[in-house]
Amino acid sequence: MIFDTLIQLAYMVGALFIVLGIRKLGSPDTAKGGNIQAGIGMGIAIVAAMIAPMARGDNNYVWILGAMVVGGLIGWVSAKKVKMTAMPQMVSIFNGLGGATAVVLGMVELEHYYNGSPMNGGQLVVTLLALIIGGVSFTGSMLAYLKLDGKVKDKHVTFNGHSILNIILLLGMIGVAAYLYMQGQPGGMGLAVLVMIVSMIYGFSFVAPIGGADMPVVISLLNSFTGLSAAAAGLIYGSLVMIVGGIFVGAAGTILTVLMCNAMNRSLLSVVLGGFGGGAAAGAKAGVDGQIVKEIGLNDLAIQLYYSDSVIFVPGYGLAVAQAQKVLKELDDLLSENGVDVKYAIHPVAGRMPGHMNVLLAEADVPYPKLLDLEEANAGFGSTDVVVIVGANDVVNPAANDDPSSPIYGMPILEVLDAKATIVIKRSMSPGYAGIQNPLFFHDKNKMLFGDAKDVIGKIAGEVKGL
Ligand code: NDP
Repeated sequence: MIFDTLIQLAYMVGALFIVLGIRKLGSPDTAKGGNIQAGIGMGIAIVAAMIAPMARGDNNYVWILGAMVVGGLIGWVSAKKVKMTAMPQMVSIFNGLGGATAVVLGMVELEHYYNGSPMNGGQLVVTLLALIIGGVSFTGSMLAYLKLDGKVKDKHVTFNGHSILNIILLLGMIGVAAYLYMQGQPGGMGLAVLVMIVSMIYGFSFVAPIGGADMPVVISLLNSFTGLSAAAAGLIYGSLVMIVGGIFVGAAGTILTVLMCNAMNRSLLSVVLGGFGGGAAAGAKAGVDGQIVKEIGLNDLAIQLYYSDSVIFVPGYGLAVAQAQKVLKELDDLLSENGVDVKYAIHPVAGRMPGHMNVLLAEADVPYPKLLDLEEANAGFGSTDVVVIVGANDVVNPAANDDPSSPIYGMPILEVLDAKATIVIKRSMSPGYAGIQNPLFFHDKNKMLFGDAKDVIGKIAGEVKGL
């Protein structure tokens, strides 16, 4: 009895650490401490969960410890080795594995159930939910990983009318699960396996047609699915810490999904059913054929920046690829020392994961007040002398405003053309993630500076020092 109370107490302390730790993630100053605190909470919960079966005299420690050592090692080594730019892929894999775990737990419980262990209606519903949501999240996240890594292209996994197949799969899966619920014990294991397989096919098929600029919405949606499946698994086992953790991830993922939908100016339904973003690249490119881009030299740009009153940097995925955040901060310091007002405009879907640019700039110690969100930046461009776009592309593409054939049409962008001049730093004329050409590059106000962002920014900083 006392033993059980102590275990529950440990779960509560663990959950408390996790909640307070997550709260600290709200500010870059406290985020690192918060991460460690949440990790300690997770550690307490894991140890308690391992000790708990002792009360029942169960002893599976060789299996449990073996799995923990193998899993822990794989996690540690891959986290050590992963490049910052591959972080989104890694997050997707971890997310998918969370879903897979819920599938395994759901199947194990259903196996017990169909072999005679009792389960009430509520428990059966929760178990089926863990199975279904976990399955969708598993294969959906794996496909998201493959897409983010460029291993799978949207056009290879989708076809016209794909959303009809998805609706059939979804209804079929829910139908069989509802039948299982109503049928009760015994003899449903075969159909349970069918639900598992269909949920996995549906996860893959649901993510397949969604691509291009809509990926951030899918990633956050899958994230919330994993949280919900973990919470469902927590309900199955009556584990407070799993319920709290799952609800947190589920709620955070849901809020992020809404924010990402707003950032893309889409309804969730249109993202999920629309299968948008993959195919219209050619149309957008055609509009700029034959136009000429103007280039600017390092020295000219250094002078232009040095003598400006206000400069806004727009970081994008290329900043992460080049790892140019620290040299960019150096350039910012040099310009600021000369009285230039320097700010950074952060688009909510810039980079390859939500908050990507904030993380990068925080790493370079860029003060938070210098970061402008989409609305603030758009209000400020009109009074800005120069906007320097560093490895960003889709988030400043005016086709989103005025080309209805563009796959990003309707997405709010950073309205950089409101500024007096714009400079784009990138290596070539290659498109960004959405695979479409950018009319900004050909605009009268714009000049290009081709090269790797770290190299180019470093050289500009060198030129500024010499002025
Ligand atoms: P983009 O992907 O549109 O463009 C990045 C640009 O960076 C490329 O055009 C590339 O051009 C340039 N680049 C790459 N490497 C370097 C380098 N070393 N030095 C300089 N430039 C470089 O990035 P954005 O941030 O503008 O937009 C993000 C896109 O990713 C959006 O479409 C968004 O929907 C999508 N997305 C976002 C996610 C999120 O959660 N934030 C998740 C998944 C997708 P070049 O090769 O010529 O150098």
